[in-house]
Amino acid sequence: TRAFLSVRDLYVRFDTEDGVVQAVDGLDFELERGRTLGIVGESGSGKSVTNLAVLGLHDRRRTEIRGEILLDGQELTGAPEPTLEKLRGNKMAMIFQDSLTALSPYYTVGRQIAEPFRKHTGASRREARQRAVEMLDKVGIPHAALRADDYPHQFSGGMRQRAMIAMALVCDPELLIADEPTTALDVTVQAQILDLLKDLQQQTGSSIILITHDLGVVAHTVDELLVMYAGRAVERGTVREVLRSPRHPYTWGLLGSMPRLASDVEEPLTPVPGTPPSLLAPPPGCPFHPRCAFTAAVGGDRCRTERPRLPAGRGAACHLTDDQQRTTFAEQIKPR
Ligand code: SF4
Ligand code: MG
Repeated sequence: TRAFLSVRDLYVRFDTEDGVVQAVDGLDFELERGRTLGIVGESGSGKSVTNLAVLGLHDRRRTEIRGEILLDGQELTGAPEPTLEKLRGNKMAMIFQDSLTALSPYYTVGRQIAEPFRKHTGASRREARQRAVEMLDKVGIPHAALRADDYPHQFSGGMRQRAMIAMALVCDPELLIADEPTTALDVTVQAQILDLLKDLQQQTGSSIILITHDLGVVAHTVDELLVMYAGRAVERGTVREVLRSPRHPYTWGLLGSMPRLASDVEEPLTPVPGTPPSLLAPPPGCPFHPRCAFTAAVGGDRCRTERPRLPAGRGAACHLTDDQQRTTFAEQIKPR
């Protein structure tokens, strides 16, 4: 049987003034009910584009999507806009990085939470208002009945993020996509928001995709992890597997820029030197080869010419052998 969300061989291309961008290039992943998948990568790795495609929020005139996105058995890639609109906010919802763009400055917070509830459930104004207050209370806004009448600018950044979560969850979505939900917040508030998401997930049994460039954010929040680079998944596994014994050189670099996890290591790894490739003309072979220090270990021209495949289940898209993947990281962090 299929997972709750199943993405198969997804390609997303769009036109820009400079040419066609291959933003997502053959992506596969699955998400079960009640589980959290972290998608990690630098900006431009395709993680946000993937999720806009799932939600049907891409610009349809400029974007070409191929592949399969099945949500609870329903195919989304070819679904007409009215179908997607019905699903959005109801069965699937999104939390954005910036609550100021997601919340309108012109309406009270309570009204903005009540509206989608009215739209999707046909509840009365009074019922919807009641529901909005309940949701604000649930996400930890004190004096929710009073604060519901405030405008977004009267809320702090952390409270706006909570309000946005309340808005996203008001119709009990089964899939929640959170794109860098805590990036704009300070570390303490970040941790509170992530805890809140976990708590709410435990109450509702929803599935979550958490998109981030920060491996520190995923460590305590997600079950499975997908590492993306240049529009492809380069490594996948449980969060424990990937953080404890990462197998892709790019993941090694990401981990190196996260000192918290390397605390049992004498010297922190250096972050990946270089910049992500242009998706207007992605490098042939392994897209990571221009930045990779291990092409010689693979030998010959292989990294530059042959595209490595990501195996199903635990693994990395890299020509290094499983043994090399396992041992090289351990050697790298061995104190000298
Ligand atoms: Fe590096 Fe080659 Fe592995 Fe790509 S396939 S990550 S270039 S070793
Ligand atoms: Mg993004």
